[in-house]
Amino acid sequence: MTLHTSLELGPVGEDADDLRTFLHGLAGCPEVQHTQQLCCTGPDAGTWFYAEADPGQGISRHRCVACGTTRHLLDSESHWNYPPMYACTACGTSIVELAVGLHAVDPDKGDGPARVRWLALAARCVECGVISGLTDAYVPDLTVGELAAAL
Ligand SMILES: [Zn+2]
Ligand SMILES: [Zn+2]
Repeated sequence: MTLHTSLELGPVGEDADDLRTFLHGLAGCPEVQHTQQLCCTGPDAGTWFYAEADPGQGISRHRCVACGTTRHLLDSESHWNYPPMYACTACGTSIVELAVGLHAVDPDKGDGPARVRWLALAARCVECGVISGLTDAYVPDLTVGELAAAL
């Protein structure tokens, strides 16, 4: 299930910290309490990616520029529909830094870690710095740590 939030075209960011600040400041969506920059799961731990995303379906995947490792966002692969590769709306560059913003709530009963309910994925163009939302999605019942490990 997908929450159809219109993610506005963001400001120009200097670095990945600005990307995370953008996610914290998103309006008109669940409050973002946690952010995390995406790193390649390969040995290079790269942070530059090609990204494909469909905000209508709440899906995305990203491919490491350095080593080619591809990761799908959560269960995106199970309803993949081959959206086009993202390109910066300002300069046309396809290489981006990526970060997720997470909305988490306290568990229904008792103590325990907060449960992530929703996430937004945003990209920062490594060429000109323009930040843009890529997609957002409801999250199955995961803790922040579990979700971070799945990215
Ligand atoms: Zn890599
Ligand atoms: Zn750009």
